[in-house]
Amino acid sequence: MAASDSRRSYGDFEGNRSIPNGEEVRNVRDTGVQTDAKVQGQGPRLSKANLFTLLSLWMELFPKKEPCQRENDPAGDSGLVVVHERRVLGLHCSSVQLHAGQVAVVKHGPRLKGCDLYFSRKPCSTCLKMLINAGVNRISYWPGDAEIGLLSDRHDHADSSHQEAILDATAAERLKSNSRPHICVLLQPLDSTMLQFVEETSQNCDFFGKIAADNPTLDVADIFRKERWNNLNDFLEKFFINDEEQHMYVLNKMGLENFCVEPNFSNLRQHMRNLIRILTSVAASVPVLQDEYGFFMREPLGTGSPALPQDVIRHCIIQARLLACRTEDPKVGVGAVIWAEGKQSQCDGTGRLYLVGCGYNAYPVGSQYAEYPQLDHKQKERQNRKYRYILHAEQNALTFRSAEIKEEENTMMFVTKCPCDECVPLIGCAGIKQIYTTDLDSNKVKHDISYLRFDKLNGVQKFIWQQKSARHTSEQAAPPTASECFCVLGAVYTTPFSTTLFIRFGRSFEPYHAVEKCHYTTMAFLRLENANF
Ligand SMILES: [Zn+2]
Ligand SMILES: [Zn+2]
Repeated sequence: MAASDSRRSYGDFEGNRSIPNGEEVRNVRDTGVQTDAKVQGQGPRLSKANLFTLLSLWMELFPKKEPCQRENDPAGDSGLVVVHERRVLGLHCSSVQLHAGQVAVVKHGPRLKGCDLYFSRKPCSTCLKMLINAGVNRISYWPGDAEIGLLSDRHDHADSSHQEAILDATAAERLKSNSRPHICVLLQPLDSTMLQFVEETSQNCDFFGKIAADNPTLDVADIFRKERWNNLNDFLEKFFINDEEQHMYVLNKMGLENFCVEPNFSNLRQHMRNLIRILTSVAASVPVLQDEYGFFMREPLGTGSPALPQDVIRHCIIQARLLACRTEDPKVGVGAVIWAEGKQSQCDGTGRLYLVGCGYNAYPVGSQYAEYPQLDHKQKERQNRKYRYILHAEQNALTFRSAEIKEEENTMMFVTKCPCDECVPLIGCAGIKQIYTTDLDSNKVKHDISYLRFDKLNGVQKFIWQQKSARHTSEQAAPPTASECFCVLGAVYTTPFSTTLFIRFGRSFEPYHAVEKCHYTTMAFLRLENANF
């Protein structure tokens, strides 16, 4: 994780140990949970607790090859962020075999001691008992429905699955009341300018910049609005309980009675809605344009590892975009995440992918406000400019990595801006095998920062945000595995002519990656040519 912000006071808004009321919420706002733009002379930043909460929600939506339907297990999907000393140790989500909390135990074992965990849902008793036992420091969760949904079948209270959910909620409460770790809801009110700031920076990010540069007549603002609107509907449905009465019911069952009194209840719902809005804007910054844009190589694929599926790339880039919301440089927020592809098939919902590190651009750890120059090239005297002091997102992601970069594994960096000349050699030497980014600034010199070396970076496969060409459709698709094919449909054909997977719609054939988001029920059949199973 990037620069520490130990200097910033942390006002916790916790539901079950301190009784929140309107007064306290205001106090939290005043103690600088979010940096006040006017006082600090810079843009607002997302607090770490809010950032980790949003990352946990986003991890719940990690694209999976197969739907997580576990046999005889009522738990739904959930996302999890494991934080050690305020730095991200792992990003996880539930899989076919395991809940997110169980994944954390399997992956981190004794390293969980002293960690803070952020869940997208209150974990079930099965997860909770193991996490408490592991000695975690704090478990924070999003105050929507629980991992074992209390709302499903709610209208039929005699239903056995509902009874199981109630029993589990009661057990979770009992575990909570007897446990050492602090189990709480950590939501912090946003700075008043935060929503607008994130909306503007998302719409003006390099991904939209590239679309606008390619298509000067296109109304990119309209595309952004539509993308946001679609996300809002999806995310509200997933993470927000629209019916107030149902929400109160869930909060009561989870031991959050304090949130059910006014003004706490309205405040809580407003904080939840605002955080969901932040997520909708950030996710809209890398739009899904009917597969017209994606991350592709300019050169032929060569001998390296195949590219990740586009939906997984987009998910990781949006993780980096979320991290950028904590930038200390309000003009250019940059985020970077590093994932590696392990050799074994793992229990995590992320498959073989595991987090290596993440970061955003910020001043050196522990620096105080105004200790370093904050101004850009408009400051005439070069010695008073910020550039020599700010750590770049890539540098922080490499410095504070939680796992070693292994020569034999495919390690991938996802970064929201073209790496500059200071970062390119670091990326090359660190053993990064693939980079997913934008080249909007490539070959440019911008005052005190230049981007001349990225194009010449050899030995790293570069997947650049760009318009999809006919060549990309055949060359960039990662060879699908047998299990991927079988979970999509029934009939698989092989011929010796090419390695591309095609799906037939009536008379026309579409490459697999161009249609994977379509309705599978409309497919006539699927033909896999020359696949190796
Ligand atoms: Zn669980
Ligand atoms: Zn850089």
